[in-house]
Parts: sequence; C-alpha cells; structure tokens
Amino acid sequence: MIRNAVKAYIVVPCYNEEEVLNETCTRLLGLMESMRRTNLVSVQSRIVFVDDGSRDATWQIITELEQDYPEVCGIKLAHNVGHQNALFGGLMTVRNDCDCAISIDADLQDDINVIPEMIKKYRDEGCEVVYGVRNKRDTDTFFKRETALGFYRMMKLMGVDMVYNHADFRLMSRAALHALSQFEERNLFLRGMVPLIGFKSDKVYYDRGERFAGESKYPLKKMISFAFDGITSFSINPIRLISAIGVIACVISVIMAIYAIAQKILGHVNVGWTSVICSIWFLGGLQMLGIGLIGEYIGKMYKEVKRRPRFIVERYIGDRR
Ligand code: UDP
Ligand code: MG
Repeated sequence: MIRNAVKAYIVVPCYNEEEVLNETCTRLLGLMESMRRTNLVSVQSRIVFVDDGSRDATWQIITELEQDYPEVCGIKLAHNVGHQNALFGGLMTVRNDCDCAISIDADLQDDINVIPEMIKKYRDEGCEVVYGVRNKRDTDTFFKRETALGFYRMMKLMGVDMVYNHADFRLMSRAALHALSQFEERNLFLRGMVPLIGFKSDKVYYDRGERFAGESKYPLKKMISFAFDGITSFSINPIRLISAIGVIACVISVIMAIYAIAQKILGHVNVGWTSVICSIWFLGGLQMLGIGLIGEYIGKMYKEVKRRPRFIVERYIGDRR
C-alpha cells in the first residue's frame, strides 16, 4: 500500500547558536532529502528556525539559509523568552501549515536519524504524539545525569505525569498542536503539558550525543529554575505538605500537653514551662494548618487562572448537518 507523503515541519529553537546553525542546517537538509526520496515527507516540508532573541549572528545566518534553501523558514522572536516559550511560539506559528511538527534542539544532541521512525509512527500507526526518549546518558556529566534522575523522581512524587528521559524532542500532529494551543497558561513546561493532552502516543529510543559546538544555554541556574517551575506549575503538593506538617504538629501538641502536665503534677518542672511548651506546639501547629488552608484556596485559584482546557475531543462522528 502506498501511503501519502507527510507535510512535516522541523521546528528548532535557537538562542545564540551561530556556531552550530550551518552544520545543523546541513544535517537537517540531508535528512529531509532522504525522507523525500523515500516518499515519507512531501516537498512542502520545512525546517523552521526560531530565533529566540539571540545577541549574536544567529538571525543573520537564518536569513542567509532561508535565501539559499527553499526548505528553510525563519521566525524571529522580538526578544529572548526562553527555550520553552520559543519552542511553543514556533509550534503555534506553524501549526496550521503542517501535518505534524517535530521539535528538536539546535545542537542536534538528539539523534535526527529517529525522525523518520517518528513520522512513520504518525503516518502508519496513527500516533498523534511521538516522544523521543534517551536510552542512556553517557554523554552527560555525572552531575547532570543524577540531578535529572532526581528531578524525574521528584516530579513523579509530586503527581506530575512525565515521560522518563524525554526532553523536548518529539513529534506532534496537527491535532495535538491544536490541543496544545488550548492551554492558556503562561508558565510553560511542555514536558508536563504534552502528556496531559492524551491521544494515541508512542516513544522512539535513541542515544543522546554531545553538543558538537558552542556551549550549553542551560547553566545550573537556569536548570534549577526550570525544575522549580516544573514543580510549581504542575503541582500543589508543596502546599499540601504544609497542611500535613500542621496536622502533625497539632497531634504532637496533644502529646506534649499530656507530657508537660504529667511533669508538672510530678513536680519536676520550673514555673511557667508547662504553659509555654503547650502553647508553642499548639500555636505552631495551628499556624501551619492556617497557612496550609489559605494555600489550598490559593492552589484552587492557581488552577482556575491557568484556564486549562477541561477536555480535549479526539474524534467527533455522526452527520453534523
Ligand atoms: N534555547 C532557546 N532560548 C534560551 C535558551 C536556549 O531557544 O533562552 C535553545 C537553544 O538554542 C537550544 C535549546 O534551547 O536549541 C536547548 O539548549 P541547550 O542545548 O543549550 O540545553 P542543554 O542541551 O544543555 O540542556
Ligand atoms: Mg543541548
């Protein structure tokens, strides 16, 4: 059976990537060419570079590439908005032009050779989302590997549904992109948002390479703030934790009260100790509980202001006239 060629867009966020762009473009063009030859993708497929307010020659290079190759498009963001926002901006800009979009980092640390596999899963198996998952993390430093592992574990503990060892290398169909567009939140954490969409999804596995040039745009400071954003954008468990500590403190206060009163009756204590110790535990517990309670309401508001879609329709059948 001959299948239709897919109109695939590859979306690449770029921030100060002058050192890698030409090489990245060459590799992606090569891939496009081979996918076109096998009739996997159509001639209308594109490579879209999103310049996230770079301060170097990134945009300059993108415009040159756009002139040289008809497959290359460029989107220039007005200022630096960060990886997640830049990627989201790129995907939302192209979402009505393509059948599916594949997002990948400019440094090509993710293996572009699994992209055909992703597209096949979309075309032949009807997957709306295909996650690229790293097999092993040999090329990352011990520190980065361990912190990332701890991060996934913590997110799980916080009740966030994430694909283990998946970064932002994924294919999304037009339907999935449309669903994503309904998320109105401002603090983007795409890794947590995409699984919330649902639809049929699958994974492809690859080995992550090293950055071939330039340096990481994710220093430790950004990594920490990214992790913190991930937790606080998806979970109100930290607030619940405060309530739980409050309840525990109140329970302890009862035990302490019994203990303190017993000590007083036995006459082992200085004057005033019993009342002080009882109030400290009881009031402390009460305060925690109060903060937790207020937090509960803030948590509810936080969920409301996000205005996330409450449902996503996958299919609608029947005669609509
Ligand atoms: N990036 C971006 N805006 C930023 C920071 C990074 O668009 O403010 C892009 C960057 O150009 C790259 C991707 O995000 O394409 C991932 O960055 P990097 O490879 O430096 O992160 P790492 O792989 O070290 O986690
Ligand atoms: Mg990288």
